[in-house]
Amino acid sequence: MARYIGPVCRLCRREGEKLFLKGEKCAKNSCPVSKRPTAPGQHGTSRKKLSEYGQQLREKQKAKRIYGVLEKQFRMYFEEADRIKGITGENLLKLLELRLDNVVYRMGLGRSRTEARQVVRHNLITVNGKKVNIPSYQVRVGDVIQVRDKSRSLDRFKEILAVTDRRAIPEWLSSDQAELKGVVNAVPTREQITTDVRETLIVELYSK
Ligand code: SF4
Repeated sequence: MARYIGPVCRLCRREGEKLFLKGEKCAKNSCPVSKRPTAPGQHGTSRKKLSEYGQQLREKQKAKRIYGVLEKQFRMYFEEADRIKGITGENLLKLLELRLDNVVYRMGLGRSRTEARQVVRHNLITVNGKKVNIPSYQVRVGDVIQVRDKSRSLDRFKEILAVTDRRAIPEWLSSDQAELKGVVNAVPTREQITTDVRETLIVELYSK
């Protein structure tokens, strides 16, 4: 599946807020949003008041950028969220949260979602004992996600954990960092999803 490969800090500047796309750098003073909170480009300093459509569009763009999903795939998530029982906006966020790359990130096995995605793509992760290298793979309740036996001693994970060990693990997941392992205990509730996105605006946008 295609992914955005341009400068990521530019995405945060476009949204006018930190989207935490780069791991360690996001907490430092060198974060461009902290230093220069204006949109990129020649007219970046003149932020206009957004129309209703503009707000809906920006919220959708923000969600896509946070989870690293491009338009076509994001639209497919929305259609799936609309099809299944429950509140569409909440379903959408739950589907995004249950992506394997996001779960690996939430377990602290990636400093950013981009790194978690790379960890998955590099064949370092198993789900229920089987190798899975698809970042968009949807995990289910009861799934056991773990770093492969032969990859557990990699320095890479020591370096990642040195940064992520203070990160709170969401209640719907349990994580054993010594074993580089986690279990999906439940589908997250909306309250347990800490992503700062107003999903109702996204539903309104796609429902036009
Ligand atoms: Fe966004 Fe992180 Fe770059 Fe700051 S450092 S602009 S939060 S990706």
